[in-house]
Amino acid sequence: MDDSLRELYQEVILDHSRHPRHFGPLDHASHTGEGHNPLCGDRVKIYLSVGDDGRIKDISFEGRGCAISQASASLMTDMLAGRTVAEAETLMGGFLHLVKGEDAGGLDADDRDRLNVMAGVSAFPMRVKCATLAWHTMKSALEGGVAKTE
Ligand code: ZN
Repeated sequence: MDDSLRELYQEVILDHSRHPRHFGPLDHASHTGEGHNPLCGDRVKIYLSVGDDGRIKDISFEGRGCAISQASASLMTDMLAGRTVAEAETLMGGFLHLVKGEDAGGLDADDRDRLNVMAGVSAFPMRVKCATLAWHTMKSALEGGVAKTE
């Protein structure tokens, strides 16, 4: 990755962590989950409102922690609003590959580009859990359990 691209990605991450999208509780949530990354101290709570058609009508998060964890949650909520649960799982699968420095597989080019801003964490194994916390928490929320993400 060249330096200007790296800088752009850092700007996107900082922007999301300073001005998080979809931040705050949803009072009509159908699913919620909480996650904790003890390695870094990050905490995140995900709220989802899923319709009978399997579409995520609304999604939001609350949390505190490092810039990576909060930016990843913000980016995720931004990308998942309006998607189906199945699409959310596909995006998550691709994202988990990206943050390990692997090929994202069958994602759309647009989705891959947006998720790619977080791919730099693959060089910092300690930070991978910061980036994936929101996604694991979202998945456990959808599965209906109390999320325990470590
Ligand atoms: Zn963190």
